[in-house]
Amino acid sequence: MGKIFDVIIVGGGIVGTATLDRLARYDLDVLLVEKSDDVAAFSTRANSGIVHAGYDCEPGTLKAKFNVLGNALLWKDAEDLDVEHLKCGSIVVAKEDGKEGIARLAEKAKANGVEVEVWDRQKTLEFEPNIADDITMSLYAKSAGIVSPYQLAIAYADRAILNGASILLESEVKAINKKGEAFEVITSKGNYSAKVVINCAGENGAGLNDMAGAEHYDTEYRRGDYFILDNVERKNVHTVIFPLPTKAGKGILVAPTADGNVIYGPTSIATQKDDTASSLASLDEIRRNVPLSYKTPAFNKCIRIYSGLRTIIGHDFVIGESKLVPNFIMAIGICSPGLTSAPAIAEHLRDLVTSKLNCQRKANTVEQLPKTKRLMSLDEKELNALVAEDEAWGRIVCRCEKVTEAEVVRAIHSPLPATTVDAVKRRTRAGMGRCQGGFCGPRVMEIISRELGIPLEKVRKGNGEDSNIAVCKVKEVK
Ligand SMILES: Cc1cc2nc3c(=O)[nH]c(=O)nc-3n(C[C@H](O)[C@H](O)[C@H](O)COP(=O)(O)OP(=O)(O)OC[C@H]3O[C@@H](n4cnc5c(N)ncnc54)[C@H](O)[C@@H]3O)c2cc1C
Repeated sequence: MGKIFDVIIVGGGIVGTATLDRLARYDLDVLLVEKSDDVAAFSTRANSGIVHAGYDCEPGTLKAKFNVLGNALLWKDAEDLDVEHLKCGSIVVAKEDGKEGIARLAEKAKANGVEVEVWDRQKTLEFEPNIADDITMSLYAKSAGIVSPYQLAIAYADRAILNGASILLESEVKAINKKGEAFEVITSKGNYSAKVVINCAGENGAGLNDMAGAEHYDTEYRRGDYFILDNVERKNVHTVIFPLPTKAGKGILVAPTADGNVIYGPTSIATQKDDTASSLASLDEIRRNVPLSYKTPAFNKCIRIYSGLRTIIGHDFVIGESKLVPNFIMAIGICSPGLTSAPAIAEHLRDLVTSKLNCQRKANTVEQLPKTKRLMSLDEKELNALVAEDEAWGRIVCRCEKVTEAEVVRAIHSPLPATTVDAVKRRTRAGMGRCQGGFCGPRVMEIISRELGIPLEKVRKGNGEDSNIAVCKVKEVK
């Protein structure tokens, strides 16, 4: 057996990357393996991006505990990591017949230690003028807000790498065997050994447990579809607007995104693993439900639809060490509010691991990532100074989102490099605007090709060998 890592984390979603980030501050050899071409590749890239306050989780559950703890940690992490976020609060709106529902939520909030206020229509209108005409009350939570979920995961990964951790992309875990005291983790790109394995494999979490001989869990999947609107609509939505929750979840919301758009959704459709194809029926459900809480829907400003998959195991998160396989640790069934809970789950897993392995906190770790310069936030003087240093700041690549070549190049050479068009998009927003990459896509491809020294035909859109965009040069076709 070659090198033995202290810890291997399987899965580079928000839970895996946050855990890597926390463990990287210790003198431990930690490796994260991810099957996709980038972190934040599955549920973490397609959700509502809401930092939930924690008033609606069943008191006493892991969801309630980690949501409330995670909320506080997440705001600090987003600040330290320079990730787009806004603590804009949230409201649950209700008509007169929703009085009891609002009162029940307020009680749960109290039990979970979350500060909320019950507002009448007038107070709600002062905060969010576009609520529907028959809304008579709301439950306001000031600790809620929005964050860019994929940027947060990428930033956790970047900070972890700067603090000495390793990430292996495009490496799917196929088997996990116990070999003496260590685990052998068989991946599509090679075999690795570790004293501790942490299962953060999202939609495949239960499957990974089975591979390792740990507890078996049945999994349900629920797809959530969304409309995402042009950023011109952002001025009309000031906060996160929820309806009263139902058994199926938190309901169809209207919310700003941390990147400056507006979303309507998600639905909650029982489905199979890997089903992320939005359906017409589900989109129609959003069309019917948005006007019930928000009076001026602007479906004509839609620039894209997308969907994400919830992985559900029973009624709560499954977090902790396997009773059947010592040193195999699970964080699975992490459905909503998993994004908000991730930093708290990560600290819990860190404590579990550091209590097992003989390790010390490293001195002089990177705590803050440098404030990233973005054209959108520069004034003319700052921009001119940057252009004088590097002409690439003067070349606009994405007109919709105002992204310069310098920002694209920076993403390609970041600690966890962006090597595909989608990975550049998640880091810079090039391609996220009104034209959805129609203009900037080819330019981004050229820059990736130049910076990585690969032919244009080898530049991929996203995950998988077959996701190349160009097939060959037209003039070379025989
Ligand atoms: C529609 C929707 C809306 C949501 N809204 C919110 C919200 O507003 N706020 C909130 O707090 N939470 C929200 N959530 C929940 C949140 O998105 C999830 O809890 C969170 O993203 C789960 O993170 P994860 O790391 O567990 O899983 P994932 O992000 O799915 O990551 C798991 C990773 O494991 C990798 N993987 C899987 N199998 C293997 C393997 N064999 N080998 C290697 N890698 C593997 C996958 O490629 C993936 O990258 C929402 C979820 C959905 C679906």
